[in-house]
Amino acid sequence: MTEQRLNGVGVSPVSASGTAIWYTPEPTLTDPDPPAPETIDSEAEWNRFLTARQTAKSELQNERERTAAAVGESEAEVFDAHIQFLADPQIESGVNSAVESGRPAEHAVSETFSEFIEQFEGMSGQMAERADDLRDVRDRLIRILSDSERADLSAVPPDSVILAERLTPSDTAQLDPDRVAGFATVAGGRTSHAAIFARSLALPAVVGVGTELNTVEAESAIAVDGTAGTVIIDPTPETQAAVGNESVTIQTDSVSTADGHPIEVAANVGTSADIQTAREYGADGIGLFRSEFLFLDRAEPPTEAEQYETYRSALESFPDGRVIVRTLDIGGDKQIEYLDLPTEDNPFLGERGIRRSLGPDEELFKTQLRALLRAARDAETGTGTGGGSSSSSGNLAVMLPLVSTIEEVTEAQSMIETVASNIETADGDDTTDADSDLDSAVRTPEFGVMIETPASAFLAPELTDHVDFFSIGTNDLAQYVMAAERGNDRVRTLGDYQQPAVFRAIDTTVRAAEGTDTWVGMCGEMAGDPSMTQLLIGLGLTELSMSAVSVPQVKSAVQETTVSEAQTLVESAREATTRDTIESLRDDR
Ligand code: PEP
Ligand code: MG
Repeated sequence: MTEQRLNGVGVSPVSASGTAIWYTPEPTLTDPDPPAPETIDSEAEWNRFLTARQTAKSELQNERERTAAAVGESEAEVFDAHIQFLADPQIESGVNSAVESGRPAEHAVSETFSEFIEQFEGMSGQMAERADDLRDVRDRLIRILSDSERADLSAVPPDSVILAERLTPSDTAQLDPDRVAGFATVAGGRTSHAAIFARSLALPAVVGVGTELNTVEAESAIAVDGTAGTVIIDPTPETQAAVGNESVTIQTDSVSTADGHPIEVAANVGTSADIQTAREYGADGIGLFRSEFLFLDRAEPPTEAEQYETYRSALESFPDGRVIVRTLDIGGDKQIEYLDLPTEDNPFLGERGIRRSLGPDEELFKTQLRALLRAARDAETGTGTGGGSSSSSGNLAVMLPLVSTIEEVTEAQSMIETVASNIETADGDDTTDADSDLDSAVRTPEFGVMIETPASAFLAPELTDHVDFFSIGTNDLAQYVMAAERGNDRVRTLGDYQQPAVFRAIDTTVRAAEGTDTWVGMCGEMAGDPSMTQLLIGLGLTELSMSAVSVPQVKSAVQETTVSEAQTLVESAREATTRDTIESLRDDR
């Protein structure tokens, strides 16, 4: 039998093989034609809806608790959003009118939710993924109303590879990594909940394979390669032997090149589960904490106290490593309902990142800064809630997203200083308690910017006067340099970090920082590609941050490289005029 390969989007750089199991949830409505309206007792149907809603709420609360314990608090928050949908007044009134006009409760739920689902489907990025959440809530209600059994994903046989049209948050919450070897879905993108779960749990997964996946028969032998983004049906013995064999030698110590240049290899995180994975994979620190993840999938922003706890725990997880927290990067494909973002024709070119933090979200920004500075101070002195005499060094660095002017940097910096001095003043006013003798100095943290717009790359020489570090965000830098939207498959190759124009933007940035006190790192996807490590070291980067699961491979690539060899490679890359040339310089050893 010859093996067959299907391509999709790999979401976690691990692979595995197993037996295909199709997950096909019950059709939403078993009887699509509703009975005649005059036969319906509207009051009884409304009461059925109210009871089903109550049951759905208890189920969701249980799932929330289970997910918080198994994966993490942030992942569990999606269920809060589902509970919120259940109580949404617009949905409630839609169901009520449908029931009043003679629809059975199941049909009233189906019709009302479908309207909202269609609206979200018409949007892009994370708003579109909200449609998944609504489908999930709709199907739950209909299942309860029609007394059907729920398909149980938690009890699949060991080594199952789950195949599905899509996996909702409720589905993914049921996945047991001890039984599930991996999964592949017809639909879904890198930022879908399923993808985020897969990365957090280091579960091999490929999403967005398309309808060709439907040709895979249940019980087939199958492999999922989350690095290459391929699903392999009937893998040959050679392929079988290769999968799951990512040579992951985890190194918890920091590493240097073969000729002794230290390179910091850090992890990108968004949730508390990611922080745990980062530690397990031997990351030296956190090179990008995508703080906006704390704000997504919930009904209102996290309080200062909640943020404080999360940041402090991140800092304490890496007592000897640097923890770079990127301030809120909302807008673009990351939408938040409660922030009432404007409708924009080109949200990636609109009010996003630092533009919002210095504009409509200024208060949120200040709250975030307060939480960060307090967490850093208390982590360092071992004080505050739960603090003892232990002293862990909260090595906080604050980083701004989507910078394109010098003024944005100076304005944000003066805001940090003001917030820091306000904390000190407030603490100074309150010196009557037992903590008064503790060192409450609020240090201004290390301060940096992401280089992810062409403007910031061009302004890099001047930016070095204002910041301690640059972190190059190749995901956005490639999109903006190449004018090729990052989530659009049609321009995937054009928007690739191997384009010579992107290489030149990176080169320009690193050259600008040479001979200054500003160090340069990278936290875009390119940093996690071990075949690019040599080129990046040759360019002069000293820090690379990536998905935690890529840390072991990149650490090994660092140790196999010498700076002199790497610099020779860079000379060739500088001459490159095509993507193919840069690609030919990959280090695929
Ligand atoms: C980037 O743009 O490269 C980056 C790391 O940030 P994000 O992917 O969160 O936009
Ligand atoms: Mg970015």
